[in-house]
Amino acid sequence: MTTPLLELDDVHQTYRPKGSIFSRGPAGLVHAISGVTLTINSGETVGVVGESGCGKSTLARMVVGIEDPKQGAVRWKGADVSTLRGPERKAFHRSIQLIFQDPFASLDPRRTVGQSIAEGILAHDLVPGDAVEDRVQQLLRQVGLLPVHARRYPHEFSGGQLQRVGIARALGVEPEVLVCDEPVSALDVSVRAQVLNLLNQLKTELGLAIVFIAHDLDVVQHMSDRIVTMYLGKIVEQGPCDAVYESAGHPYTRALLSAVPKKPAPGYRIDRVVLEGDPPSPINPPPGCPFHTRCYAAIAKCSTVVPPSVDLGDGHRATCHLAEEVSRSRVGQPYSVV
Ligand code: SF4
Repeated sequence: MTTPLLELDDVHQTYRPKGSIFSRGPAGLVHAISGVTLTINSGETVGVVGESGCGKSTLARMVVGIEDPKQGAVRWKGADVSTLRGPERKAFHRSIQLIFQDPFASLDPRRTVGQSIAEGILAHDLVPGDAVEDRVQQLLRQVGLLPVHARRYPHEFSGGQLQRVGIARALGVEPEVLVCDEPVSALDVSVRAQVLNLLNQLKTELGLAIVFIAHDLDVVQHMSDRIVTMYLGKIVEQGPCDAVYESAGHPYTRALLSAVPKKPAPGYRIDRVVLEGDPPSPINPPPGCPFHTRCYAAIAKCSTVVPPSVDLGDGHRATCHLAEEVSRSRVGQPYSVV
């Protein structure tokens, strides 16, 4: 069996909530990530979906090594990342690059984009000094921009162009994994598809693995080989993209699927699930199944008994007492009424 590129093994992350100048923060810890186990293999795209505050961005920060988990381990090619030091730690940071939601905020407004792209290349000493300019121009061409753009400043670009610059900067250090945290959420609909197609094309050309974080399941479906659904800091469902879309086994995934705006074909209808209220506080998560306060399918034991992770076959798992029944239903999916 080959070692995965990246592994998260029962990872937990907690924070102490901040107060204001007038009051102390609430007592207790924010459980941002609770017991997440996930593998990312070379050349695959893993889509991570869930509402704001479900732990997606915390997961991204731990995957790229900005934060170490409070409990559990993140492993890079089998080695515990928290034990990496010196050149090994530097090589790990180079191998995993983060693409941000807001490309403008991720670039220094006082530097040309050429200087920003060259920064990582120089820091890692990847090409001789006199070849850096050529390498920057090559990267700009690779992401669909022009070499002349290297001399411009971030404010001279549109949002879509800036996201291409962010991708060029990440590619400059020759990574093996791109972690894309809501990379198209801030872009106009018209340029989203261009950036998504660019990421897919680069994945194929360079053999990159991609962790694609988004709250829009339509976008995630376009990108992913596997899908992971997160709720309140936990993975509640994961599996191959088609299996999750066709036969989701967790009611929360069903609710996300039914929120995708799509018009059923004539003779078909969709029973949509409308999620009521906000997610519970991650400081004091509900007992039993954390989703039971909002679940359309909840039964009595959901409020007291933690559901098992049910194997639905072919690597598809859902953490729900009713996973098999839910996976056979058509809730949130078009079904024939004729
Ligand atoms: Fe809903 Fe119960 Fe399944 Fe949780 S365990 S998702 S509350 S049916």
